[in-house]
Amino acid sequence: MTEARFSDEEIKKLYQGLSTEMTLIDCGRKCAPYNVGGKPFCCDILHAIPTVFNEEWAYLQKNTNLWFPWEWDRGRDDRDEARREYEELKAETPDKMVLLECLGPDKCEREFRSFTCRQFPFFPYLNSKGKLLGISYYEEYEESCWVISNLEQVLPEYVFSFVRTFDTIFERIPDEKNNYEYHSLMMRKSYKKRRRAIPLLHRNGLSYKISPGNERMRKVPASRFSKIGVYKIAAKMPFPDEMT
Ligand code: SF4
Ligand code: SF4
Repeated sequence: MTEARFSDEEIKKLYQGLSTEMTLIDCGRKCAPYNVGGKPFCCDILHAIPTVFNEEWAYLQKNTNLWFPWEWDRGRDDRDEARREYEELKAETPDKMVLLECLGPDKCEREFRSFTCRQFPFFPYLNSKGKLLGISYYEEYEESCWVISNLEQVLPEYVFSFVRTFDTIFERIPDEKNNYEYHSLMMRKSYKKRRRAIPLLHRNGLSYKISPGNERMRKVPASRFSKIGVYKIAAKMPFPDEMT
């Protein structure tokens, strides 16, 4: 194991920083009906595998039985495919992190949710000058995560807490900043190819579309961001209880 970079006390503080509610409604109830297993997508190991810092794992083991190491073949009939994905993921996971699985949404303990749970579906977005502008989302979850299609529901307090927490992390561990700078760059490349603007919830409380080529920012209400996949259809044909 690599040298511990965060103390238990720091992990606890960072968890507190990322404990602000993301939306006023329980977004899990919005996405779970579209998942075959009936679980929110981000709590379903078949869709999202939480990675946690080694120090975080040590902290969690001391405080809860909620988590255990991810078992790559659990719930998978396609063992060859599952093994291939496992090998790929292991290779992509840095030494400082470990892949975990939790007991599931029925047994969730909010206090001991990982950073990954608290962040999902967002990551800190940095421009090419390395400035942390705000938050954007992981594009691979566009089709599954309801929040991504409803960014206007994200509370400004959540964005502020998220950015403040990452200001602290980046100051403490500059490597983490490099990782997200790289991820933001990859997002610009991908969105340029897809000829789409990057949605940003800015740390100033406003929302913007960023042109991936020249990084020009245009202020737009978050309600104007695209709805995607089933959520686009659902927005056109809401259930009666969604119209109030
Ligand atoms: S964050 Fe997205 S995937 Fe997770 S529960 Fe909310 S809507 Fe579902
Ligand atoms: S700890 Fe809770 S929020 Fe995180 S994946 Fe498990 S059930 Fe979901």
